[in-house]
Amino acid sequence: MAKIFEQNAYTKEIETKIKEIDPENKTIELEDAIFYGKSGGQPGDEGEIIADGQKIKVNETIKAGESIKNILENLNGLRKNQKIIARINWDKRYKYMRMHSALHLMCASISLGVTGGQIGYDKSRLDFNDPDKEIKKEELQEKINALMEEDHEITYEYIDSKILESQPELVRTMSVKPPSIDGKLRFVKIGNVDFQPCGGTHVKSTKEIGKITIGKIENKGRMNRRVNILIND
Ligand SMILES: [Zn+2]
Repeated sequence: MAKIFEQNAYTKEIETKIKEIDPENKTIELEDAIFYGKSGGQPGDEGEIIADGQKIKVNETIKAGESIKNILENLNGLRKNQKIIARINWDKRYKYMRMHSALHLMCASISLGVTGGQIGYDKSRLDFNDPDKEIKKEELQEKINALMEEDHEITYEYIDSKILESQPELVRTMSVKPPSIDGKLRFVKIGNVDFQPCGGTHVKSTKEIGKITIGKIENKGRMNRRVNILIND
């Protein structure tokens, strides 16, 4: 299976084939995946499959090992190896891309361990190990908006996972090991601002994120200060 979303997160539609069908779970797997599989705090995608003129809703897409399972509304007449068109709900996915890149900028602006995170449509969040309450809302908001304004390019690199033996600090999330494929890790690079292993989908430059607002900062325990972020559209 080719993970198109990893190479080009902007592919909205593709003609491909059904690789596997699982009638019990109403899921199919495609030869070329443009839908991101829910993982690493980024939600899966929604969209539709068009097969012989019939439209079938894709309700959710999840990562299962190396494959992406597309959960469909129904499997009406679909068969293995059938040619189909897959179309993504771009409004949602594009928002997730902007949110994901915004969270990396937040990560780059706070030099504390990350204990959790979740991307959402209306707001996203990162949790930090911040026992001394170092994070200041206004200061953080200004910093992220400045980085966004500076228009840093966002690119991907595949690097031998051994790099983490000498540079463990590249992993910002505490206690979560990034998954390596054939000994390689996918890194997301935001100009000279941020560089960390990540399998998610991002925008091409920080300017695309738009202006952000830091929402509530919540105390969720000693090792867990939750910082919410919103995009002002
Ligand atoms: Zn990421």
